[in-house]
Amino acid sequence: MSSDHRAYVYSTVLMGSPIVLKLFEHDENLASRVFRLIKRYEDMLTVNRPHSEVMDINDAAGRHPVPVSQPVFELIKRARAVSLPDGSCFNFAIGPLVKRWKIGFNGRSVPPANELRDLLALTNPHDVVLNERARSVFLPRTGMEIDLGAIAKGYIADVIRDFLHGHAIHDALINLGGNVQTLGAPRNGGQGAWAIGLKTPFSHMDALIGIISVTDKSVVTSGVYERYFKRNGRYYHHILDPATGYPLDNELLSVTIVSDDAIDGDIHTTLMYGMGVEKGLAYLSGMPHIEAIFVTRDRRVIFSSPRQFTFTLLDQSYRIA
Ligand code: ADP
Ligand code: MG
Repeated sequence: MSSDHRAYVYSTVLMGSPIVLKLFEHDENLASRVFRLIKRYEDMLTVNRPHSEVMDINDAAGRHPVPVSQPVFELIKRARAVSLPDGSCFNFAIGPLVKRWKIGFNGRSVPPANELRDLLALTNPHDVVLNERARSVFLPRTGMEIDLGAIAKGYIADVIRDFLHGHAIHDALINLGGNVQTLGAPRNGGQGAWAIGLKTPFSHMDALIGIISVTDKSVVTSGVYERYFKRNGRYYHHILDPATGYPLDNELLSVTIVSDDAIDGDIHTTLMYGMGVEKGLAYLSGMPHIEAIFVTRDRRVIFSSPRQFTFTLLDQSYRIA
């Protein structure tokens, strides 16, 4: 490996997640501009702090519409569109349930069924009123809350890709807590492709089921092992079933989406969680540009086809099915 082809790795923590940027030029200044840009979007979109554009909408629930900036409005529109189809497991109005479960935060417990039932009534995505002309968002009932946690990181990963392209960077990688966006191909080694590790669920940090190799693609993984807690022998993880208010419970340990845009990956990991393997494969068969890798509890690794990536199995206790 010649020295001018080495990768420079910059990391930080934002949005409660580890953030990694890889560049092929040493450029602290560019890295800190990337991190500032992520922070700017986090400041607009977060619901884990008292103030943000999204929190302003939530705080005005039951009272009045709130005008928001263009990017926030566009992202909410997109989140609403994927939430509306009948049976969609994606629900951007799921905030009251997420807040109640507090999965991934202190103070988590299994809420009583009657509380969940009452909160479910406040999570109908059809109730959210968008006004294009005023660029405003209105939550008509007190207690309603928008949560963009299932789409924001993917969206921001694409913003960073576009920012880097705008600065004539055509080979780089950004990882926002499992939402990876790659630009071009790495200059060194790697057979001309980025190697993205697929983590072994519930194992030590570095354990990998295998390696996903891509160029110029996003690779987004969401797993039940990322944020969860255990009570009375049951695991409760952070993707909730909008129909029941409880964490989704099926054969999946993780879903990875390979696509051009990380926002599609972030949306579809959540959708695939809701559908499970069989329905998920049927759904994606009409969308060749969005590909999935399912990892199941019985240790199978299942691909939707066709494949614009290669996969190398490292953990032989899993089998490709
Ligand atoms: P992560 O990258 O943290 O795994 P995901 O993209 O899987 O995130 O989204 C999980 C987050 O989305 C949760 O932490 C919560 O904020 C929110 N969420 C949970 N269930 C749903 C759902 N059914 N639809 C939309 N958002 C959800
Ligand atoms: Mg997601």
